[in-house]
Amino acid sequence: SRAKLFDEKEKIQTTFKDVAGLEGAKEEVQEVVDFLKNSEKYTKLGGKIPKGVLLVGPPGTGKTLLAKAVAGEAKVPFFSLSGSDFVEMFVGVGASRVRDLFAQAKAKSPAIIFIDEIDAIGRARGKGNFTGGNDERENTLNQLLTEMDGFGTDTNVIVMAATNRADILDKALMRAGRFDRSIYVDLPELHERKQIFDVHLAKIKLDPNIDREFLAKQTPGFSGADIANVCNEAALIAARNGHEAVNKQDFLDAVDRIIGGLEKKNKAIK
Ligand code: ATP
Repeated sequence: SRAKLFDEKEKIQTTFKDVAGLEGAKEEVQEVVDFLKNSEKYTKLGGKIPKGVLLVGPPGTGKTLLAKAVAGEAKVPFFSLSGSDFVEMFVGVGASRVRDLFAQAKAKSPAIIFIDEIDAIGRARGKGNFTGGNDERENTLNQLLTEMDGFGTDTNVIVMAATNRADILDKALMRAGRFDRSIYVDLPELHERKQIFDVHLAKIKLDPNIDREFLAKQTPGFSGADIANVCNEAALIAARNGHEAVNKQDFLDAVDRIIGGLEKKNKAIK
């Protein structure tokens, strides 16, 4: 079967209430929602709507979730693709895929384009790539820059991109009129982990003596994605143990398991 060029979702159900914590980031992207909903309000005074917003932060902290929530709040279609998909791309396909993506989004504007792992395309030229395929990546990056430079103030398409390696990005991406805004999406602090637990505990049949405060304290350094995993894993462990509801020990076992997984991942990186 033919590989899909990109993913398109007309109706996104995700809204800001699905995104726990991240108050500062939510406030910043609220402006993007407003641009998408009322572009005229801004353009009629001569202002230029930003074209690109970079979401920067560690893996699993909710960057994709936040971009989806922007589309959901603004009630606009969400076009997405992942930079890492381009790594396997045949010569010439990357650039045409980017061209297609922008054409589709413009046809359905206002719209959001989301590019996950933009560093896979947008790494600084001529750095850290010994595996070949460099030209293809550069063609793709150039096409992306061309598309962003090409749309005028009347094109209400905002490109959101995510990375956990802003340091290696080609500076050309961050130039004015491209991704000239960055929003930091950090690992959650204690009070934010409590809020993230609230979101994910809501889906689970809980033992009444479980305390989100306790859970948040057991999980320093966990991302939102890790917390979602803990909740799911705890439910599976409880089911395996034949429990009627998920109890404290199920959670502690799940936390141990997730920490074990994280340690393995870190070892693999080193
Ligand atoms: P990556 O950089 O690995 O792509 P990301 O920052 O885009 O990660 P998401 O894909 O948005 O992270 O998060 C994965 C999942 O983790 C979400 O679908 C959600 O279930 C959960 N999650 C992450 N952050 C939050 C949050 N702030 N509130 C609620 N759930 C969260």
